[in-house]
Amino acid sequence: MDVITNLANIETKVQEACEKVNRKTDEITIIGVTKYVTIERTEEAIRSGITNIGENRAEELTKKYSQIQDKATWHFIGTLQSRKVKDVIDKVDVIHSLDRMSVAKQIDKRASSPIDCFIQVNVSGEEAKHGLAPNEVLPFIKELEPYKNVRIVGLMTMAPHVEDESLLRRTFKDLAALRDMIQHEQLSHAPCAYLSMGMSNDYEIAIEEGATHIRIGSKLVGAN
Ligand SMILES: *Cc1c(COP(=O)(O)O)cnc(C)c1O
Repeated sequence: MDVITNLANIETKVQEACEKVNRKTDEITIIGVTKYVTIERTEEAIRSGITNIGENRAEELTKKYSQIQDKATWHFIGTLQSRKVKDVIDKVDVIHSLDRMSVAKQIDKRASSPIDCFIQVNVSGEEAKHGLAPNEVLPFIKELEPYKNVRIVGLMTMAPHVEDESLLRRTFKDLAALRDMIQHEQLSHAPCAYLSMGMSNDYEIAIEEGATHIRIGSKLVGAN
């Protein structure tokens, strides 16, 4: 399916989800996750109006960036190793997966201006998942205060891969509550206004629960 058709379908569903809970569609940023697809398909996505592009590996982001450059806003959504920070830091606009001090230190050291970062939270407590436990998030953010190039704009999570709608909803609600709590701290380095949550199979529920950034791969550009 071409990206324009997929995007039109997604936009309709985004609008319906927003209407259900009285939100505005312009509160939602759709990030096209291109990790499964070629540069050509990524360029098709950009021509179709998806200018926010998400990649989860430094090598792949670097490869696509070399051709696409600043025709896209680049989101790093995967696990970032501290030794790879230097490879992506001059290319990415947003990092969604910060969960380690060693990575924060590298970002601070290598960036030439503040980088917008989401803290990745393992809300569901699944062992295989990256991210901080919910109770670790505020202490971690407070420790980031000296790092002037690390700006915490929000929280990110990956919901468990299940069909159970109530479990998905609970995960998203918990992340939203944690975001509210941190926002109330009014930390100048951590406005923490955004929620990066929702993928191809659960973005409508995520929007109903407050997502501001949805990360869509397979339903938008395809899975291979
Ligand atoms: C792959 C990936 C996505 C997109 O997954 P789909 O289910 O294909 O939409 C979103 N977020 C992260 C962190 C990913 O790794």
